[in-house]
Amino acid sequence: SADDRANIGVVGLAVMGSNLARNLASREGNTVAVYNRTYARTEELVTEHPEAGFIASETIDDFVATLATPRTAIIMVQAGKGTDAVIEQLAERFEPGDIIVDGGNANFNDTIRRERELRERGLNFVGTGISGGEEGALNGPSIMPGGSPEAWTTLGPILKSIAAVAEGEPCVTHVGTDGAGHFVKMVHNGIEYADMQLIAEAYDLLRRVGGLSVEQLVDVFKDWNTGDLESYLIEISAEVLAQKDAETGQPLVDVILDEAGSKGTGVWTVQNALGLGIPVSGIGEAVFARAVSSKTAQRAAMRASVQGSTRAHPATPQVPDTFVDDVRAALYASKVVAYAQGFDLIVAGAKEYGWDIDLGALAKIWRAGCIIRARFLNRIVDAYAAEPDLETLLVDPYFADAVASGEETWRRVVGIAAAAGVPAPGFSSALSYFDSLAADRLPAALIQGQRDFFGAHTYKRVDKDGAFHTLWSGDR
Ligand code: NAP
Repeated sequence: SADDRANIGVVGLAVMGSNLARNLASREGNTVAVYNRTYARTEELVTEHPEAGFIASETIDDFVATLATPRTAIIMVQAGKGTDAVIEQLAERFEPGDIIVDGGNANFNDTIRRERELRERGLNFVGTGISGGEEGALNGPSIMPGGSPEAWTTLGPILKSIAAVAEGEPCVTHVGTDGAGHFVKMVHNGIEYADMQLIAEAYDLLRRVGGLSVEQLVDVFKDWNTGDLESYLIEISAEVLAQKDAETGQPLVDVILDEAGSKGTGVWTVQNALGLGIPVSGIGEAVFARAVSSKTAQRAAMRASVQGSTRAHPATPQVPDTFVDDVRAALYASKVVAYAQGFDLIVAGAKEYGWDIDLGALAKIWRAGCIIRARFLNRIVDAYAAEPDLETLLVDPYFADAVASGEETWRRVVGIAAAAGVPAPGFSSALSYFDSLAADRLPAALIQGQRDFFGAHTYKRVDKDGAFHTLWSGDR
């Protein structure tokens, strides 16, 4: 009978799909159908978790038959071709009004395309960002769905039932239509890159310039995690630093090869920001810093070159007694910049793709379940509540004050890093961005002059309207 059918199905039962299916099954009111291309995976999940009461199917036909209407299925398979294949299998069997949800890490452009194609076939397609990794999928992720408002009516209560909870509110909101959810998930990941890089720079400065031991740094990070910087990333940084290598007894961080990997969402974020003309320098520096770290041969060549040269070696700068707190202030100010830039990108994306994105609601759903969860996000919620059309987060009174109060130390820390020869691309580019926005005059005037000189690109004047071209003396 219809009562035995599932209100939700999950396709793709690797680690993310299995955990999401278990999360769904654990919530009151959900009956969960499961399907995986390779049936062995399905059997394993059902055998290991009888408590979930899964309705398992060996074939896609059977799976579709176990779903109550409107049929709603969440796909958690390999992004790209795998997702397209599964979407097509479902679309061939689904009826108008049914809902196909892609919870994988899709490129938002694919999501826009898939939504359009399925809409033309009468089906609802919802691309949703799901953040929080395996643990989040099981216990409560932050969920960023796009798609139509009609699909949200059915899907919203289901997603609310499994989302993380922050201050009593489920961490899910209908972000916007078609690709909006995957777009903001992409930016979330970009911000995550920037945040991680800034924390890593703070660690490096305190260790190499401040002279702190790894053990002392564990305490510093734990202490920071009781204040404004309280966040999942600071918390796990303390745990990573506290970890000892089982084989050597050394801090594990000293045994880990210093070449950072990535799965590409940071690159997507920067590529899109470049296209939209949004300076996400914090995210960009983070992506580049990972790239530099992996240039093994160049690093070796440069180390050898520098060692053999007679260049003046970096100084050992005077480190103030307040250095730990100085670095904390620099980290906080740089973090504000990185988030301000990320939100700028979301504003630009919303404008470009026609999404109505509530920035405050977005900051709210990032407060729990996802990698960038932090106390800090409450401040962003407050900022957009007070002024929804904020020009930049940096001019919100709270953030303006926070940055201003740390400004002097921020400059000092960047200066010390440069003098000591310790790279701090995140800290220093954030400061340059801040100084650029705050400057009365930028050297862009000279650039306009250069452009007019070699290309007659014209320039505008400060004192009257219009486009002007000068007959430069070097011209013709
Ligand atoms: P995965 O390793 O990315 O993919 C494996 C799953 O995809 C298996 O169920 C596999 O089925 C299925 N699959 C691949 N190609 C297929 C095809 N052509 N037709 C049907 N099924 C196909 O799995 P995952 O690590 O659980 O990740 C799932 C999704 O979540 C991905 O998009 C990933 O990017 C995303 N993800 C997100 C987070 C996060 O924090 N949000 C973390 C990890 C992953 P078989 O068993 O038959 O091979």
